[in-house]
Amino acid sequence: MNAAPQIFFDSKKARDFNGFHPWVRDHALIEPAAPIASGEVVELMSPGGGWIGRGIYNPSSRIRVRLYQWNRAQQLDVQWCEAQLARAVQLRETWMQRHQRHEAVRLVNSEGDGLSGLIVDRFGEYLVLQVTALAILPWLETIADWFQTRLSPRGIFVRIEGKTAHQEGMEARDELLRGTLPTGPIELTENGVKLQFDLVSGQKTGYYLDQRENRRRAANWTSGGPMLDVCSYLGGFALAACHLGRPSTVLAVDSSARALEQAKVNATLNDFSQIEYVQADCFDYLEELVASGRKFQTVVLDPPRMASSRGQLGSALRAYHRLNLSAVNLLEPDGTLITCSCSGRVMRSDMLGMLASVSKRTRRSIQVVESLGADFDHPIDVNCPESEYLKCLVCRVA
Ligand code: SAH
Repeated sequence: MNAAPQIFFDSKKARDFNGFHPWVRDHALIEPAAPIASGEVVELMSPGGGWIGRGIYNPSSRIRVRLYQWNRAQQLDVQWCEAQLARAVQLRETWMQRHQRHEAVRLVNSEGDGLSGLIVDRFGEYLVLQVTALAILPWLETIADWFQTRLSPRGIFVRIEGKTAHQEGMEARDELLRGTLPTGPIELTENGVKLQFDLVSGQKTGYYLDQRENRRRAANWTSGGPMLDVCSYLGGFALAACHLGRPSTVLAVDSSARALEQAKVNATLNDFSQIEYVQADCFDYLEELVASGRKFQTVVLDPPRMASSRGQLGSALRAYHRLNLSAVNLLEPDGTLITCSCSGRVMRSDMLGMLASVSKRTRRSIQVVESLGADFDHPIDVNCPESEYLKCLVCRVA
């Protein structure tokens, strides 16, 4: 028999609870009578004593239990972990066999692959793990061993960001788990564009793979006029546009000097001389551009995550509104706006509502011509709406 402690759902919250959502918040649970250790396996029970699922307890996190197993007969053991990894990798293999091989691919996408808190990106011969939940820590060695055996990468690197570490009660980490680190920057090709970045000092896992297909699609909408790429990081949208869409000039803006330095290297690698780089805060800088009377044929907005909790939704929407208002004011008539949100709390309908408000304010019609999400290697868990974090809307602005 299973001796894992049981934790009970609060009867007042039971009505709104989707038992298949991998996150169970602190306020939805009855405090356990005896303390439960961080990282311990628990059984989640309904107020009436029915078994809901099996997960991992974390008293330091607002996500008190992360659920991983809804089949009572199966344990959270090494076989379970390996089976989840195999399923995740198989999905990418199947897609790539049928469509196109990518040297850079997300192999595990957290909730979308039933492994809440684990991201694994492959960049050629290297793997980067990003851990966003303490619950994953006990599995790290199993995960590293499995990938080492199956894929024989040259190196496996793990990253835990400071903010996430704090929220989850774990230590921030940048550590080599297996093999060696590359001696220089990683180079990859995406949509025919060459890109370099540093595995260790880059943002998140180093490069944003979720926008791969959207960069290509956005590029196909860019015509000959000037383009503005806001929050450009390594220049992904700008480079794809220069390769596939031929904008006359591109102005790329980011607040990170380090990212811009690498973006300039990437432009040179591809012999693109039409891109100008500006280090600035996008909110203020776009308002300055509006005041100066500059106009663009295409504007890409790809800001960082603005809402990490439900309480931040209002302020996030105000920030998106401010940025999109400036972008619309910078667009020539019938210009293209590519506007993105990577906040899991902001739903697609919220983005549409925000754009409707910008449309009224500017008295310009906005048509969404493509409503895009993250690429194939970022599956969404239908029971976890937050896992549809990336929204990318291509709009024609009258
Ligand atoms: N468009 C990029 C990814 C953008 S990620 C791509 O295609 O890969 C978000 C970027 O926004 C990061 O590079 C970050 O440095 C930048 N950023 C964060 N806050 C910002 C701000 N206030 N103003 C300008 N850039 C900002």
